[in-house]
Amino acid sequence: MITVLCGGVGGSRFLCALAAVVDPARITAIINTGDDDWFHGVYVSPDPDIVTYALAGEVDQERGWGLRGDSFRWLASLARFGEETWFQIGDRDLATHLHRTRLLRERWPLSRVTADIARAFGVKVRLLPMSDDRVRTVVETHDGELTFQRYLVQRHARDAVRAVRFEGAGQARPAPGVVEAVRDAEAIFFAPSNPIGSIAPILAVPGIRDAIAAARVRRVAVSPIVGGRSLQPPAAEMMAGLGYEVDAAGVATFYAGLADTLIIDETDGARAAAVAERGPRPVVAQTVMRDDAARRSLAAAALHAAGVAP
Ligand code: GDP
Ligand code: CA
Repeated sequence: MITVLCGGVGGSRFLCALAAVVDPARITAIINTGDDDWFHGVYVSPDPDIVTYALAGEVDQERGWGLRGDSFRWLASLARFGEETWFQIGDRDLATHLHRTRLLRERWPLSRVTADIARAFGVKVRLLPMSDDRVRTVVETHDGELTFQRYLVQRHARDAVRAVRFEGAGQARPAPGVVEAVRDAEAIFFAPSNPIGSIAPILAVPGIRDAIAAARVRRVAVSPIVGGRSLQPPAAEMMAGLGYEVDAAGVATFYAGLADTLIIDETDGARAAAVAERGPRPVVAQTVMRDDAARRSLAAAALHAAGVAP
């Protein structure tokens, strides 16, 4: 079993890359749910949905989230009533949230709901939310606290970040299968996901970080920061707010003691020594998954770094 910790867009791209070169049934994804939230009476689980849609080949590739070719007519209709419509939910996407919300109201745990949605989309990778318990990523800014989606989607990550906390994480338990997926893995990967916004909430659930630290297998992270920039907000903004350097070395600082190897982009080759200084062994590779060839080459480099045969 290959186990991957991930968020949404970067996470889903990396999972698609791995699934192109190894049997998807061998892969387990442990997915961030810190940015889950309620909108208009439905429970939205953005990162598991992005991963599901991407692995099903139905994600909107341009945006990186949502379903390809989706429309937003229900949302436009809601605006008439003065409802807040800054959080984009497509018409087809809404069906996923309605289904999820019904099952949650019938007291299904989130992990079972996530698996059910993945099954309906024909996804073969095993998808596990980090926890069945509610954890909420809260961004502390100079103007007060914002939920993650308000910070990112409504306010476009423009507020300077002072701190980030994961409400409820202390009391949360890892979802069934999560600790086992770490313990029994032949390799553990950290997708090129937002370290603070996507990976840190997973690590904040008691038991997960310890299981990773205790793992005897190779642990390989891929840097989401390429050429000193994040390919999308808010990874750079959040790292800067918490005092990390926004470059490959800053990512290495985050992963020190957790990942043995950090794959950094070719454009960041000059930072390899700085990465090594912070702990992880640097591996330089092409990490931008712009097409199928790039996805396969990154997956191959990651498997090689982990000492795992495809
Ligand atoms: P979110 O939950 O949708 O914010 O997505 P993630 O946390 O999983 O990933 C966000 C990060 O993915 C950003 O910092 C991007 O720079 C990174 N990312 C997206 N596509 C790629 C890619 O092709 N290569 C690399 N190295 N990083 C990527
Ligand atoms: Ca996310």
